[in-house]
Amino acid sequence: MSQIGVSQIVSQTRSAFQSGITRPLSWRKAQLEAMIRMIEENQDEFSAALKTDLGRGVEEAWMYDLGFTIAEVKLMLKNLKKWTSARKVPTPIVSKPGSSRRIPEPLGTVLVIAPWNYPVQLLLVPAAGAIAAGNSVVMKPSEVSSATSAVLAKFVPQYLDKQAIVVVEGGVPETTDLLAQKFEHIFYTGNGTVGRVVMRAAAENLTPVTLELGGKSPTIVDASANIDVAARRIAWAKYVNAGQTCVAPDYVLVHKSVSDKLVKAIGESVTEFYGTDPHASKDYARVVSPRHFSRLKSMIGSGTVAVGGQTEESERYIAPTVLVNVDKSSPVMQEEIFGPILPIIEIDSIDEALNFVNGRQHPLALYVFAEDSKVNEKVVANTTSGGVTVNGTIFHMTGPFLPFGGVGESGMGAYHGQAGVDVFQHLKPVLKRSTKLDAPLAYPPYTARKFSILKKFL
Ligand code: NAD
Repeated sequence: MSQIGVSQIVSQTRSAFQSGITRPLSWRKAQLEAMIRMIEENQDEFSAALKTDLGRGVEEAWMYDLGFTIAEVKLMLKNLKKWTSARKVPTPIVSKPGSSRRIPEPLGTVLVIAPWNYPVQLLLVPAAGAIAAGNSVVMKPSEVSSATSAVLAKFVPQYLDKQAIVVVEGGVPETTDLLAQKFEHIFYTGNGTVGRVVMRAAAENLTPVTLELGGKSPTIVDASANIDVAARRIAWAKYVNAGQTCVAPDYVLVHKSVSDKLVKAIGESVTEFYGTDPHASKDYARVVSPRHFSRLKSMIGSGTVAVGGQTEESERYIAPTVLVNVDKSSPVMQEEIFGPILPIIEIDSIDEALNFVNGRQHPLALYVFAEDSKVNEKVVANTTSGGVTVNGTIFHMTGPFLPFGGVGESGMGAYHGQAGVDVFQHLKPVLKRSTKLDAPLAYPPYTARKFSILKKFL
């Protein structure tokens, strides 16, 4: 699509916002309901696309993309009125008599740019938040998950308001053209390098951004941990979607006294989940592209393979893999892995784990497994990350009451639940004063007496 095409689409979407059609709650509700119908009525086509792009089975296509999106949108529908109504707040004595409210207003026309790893939910959940808040929306799915992108581009105009909600497919050129346009908010999910490109472009128009980025999310396993449960929860989170999950445990720091036991238990969990040959499992996904496959395959050499290690290029298959004796200066410990390779690093103490984590960028997620609650508290209190699950993995981001986002290099801003609507609305502060009382206290000329009274209140 040419730049002119992109700018026409954006100006059409902007006109739709300016016409006022996106503001009534009835319109927002109709769009959100239509989005749910779109997914439900076409789930086979969406699942097939996710299979083509990521080799994902129907169950995980549903749980992590389709069903997940529906659940978030249903929650928005249930709370639409509450989350978009004026919020009464206290009025300070100097403004009394009066009343104070924060009135949510849509921002205008917003751009949502999504990556390929959960290509439905990472596009539609932010877009639904923008719609619930009364904005018009331009959505840019990832070109890397091209089958899913095509399905979204096909169904969105069939179900949603064509004037106000559009999908622009494409890669770097199209996204670059989009970023040259003016938006009132840009919501980007993806890697930090492109995050910087987005933020630079946004600065030209003073457009606020939400950046949902990634990084190396650590998992700390204490000597007191329940190793069997930790192993299952780590293996599930690491190997779902073949490790292509922003909040997957990137690496494990495990107390040396339980390291062998953990590695063995992770191996057993892999067999429990995917059988002795994960290649044949209908539940095990594939790496998204040959480029991503080559990068991951080369990482396997960074340590000793303790579990898995097999690859099959023609299918972009990489077995669920565990590495021990890992070289800390190798790419597997320097870059976000974003694939089914799990380095295990032995530590002597929790302090050593804290030093390791705190010597690096703030991660998107952090996990700690310990039965000793003091250890859990110490890790939570002495680390900074986008979010934490204690004695578990990933689940802190699945509930709508814990806003999800990163901090520092792992991102800025958050969404899910009410936060996912608030990010797309301006909570305009409005103070309404009474004219019945107009004390001359704050007006000049100031006297010593007035000033001493003023100092008591201000
Ligand atoms: P990607 O390659 O699909 O890129 C993301 C989007 O940016 C795409 O729509 C793409 O078209 C666009 N893009 C790519 N290069 C661009 C450029 N030069 N200029 C403008 N736009 C460009 O996805 P990715 O970045 O490989 O995604 C994986 C990363 O995303 C990982 O770091 C992962 O941790 C992170 N991630 C974060 C979250 C989160 O919620 N925080 C979720 C998923 C993935």
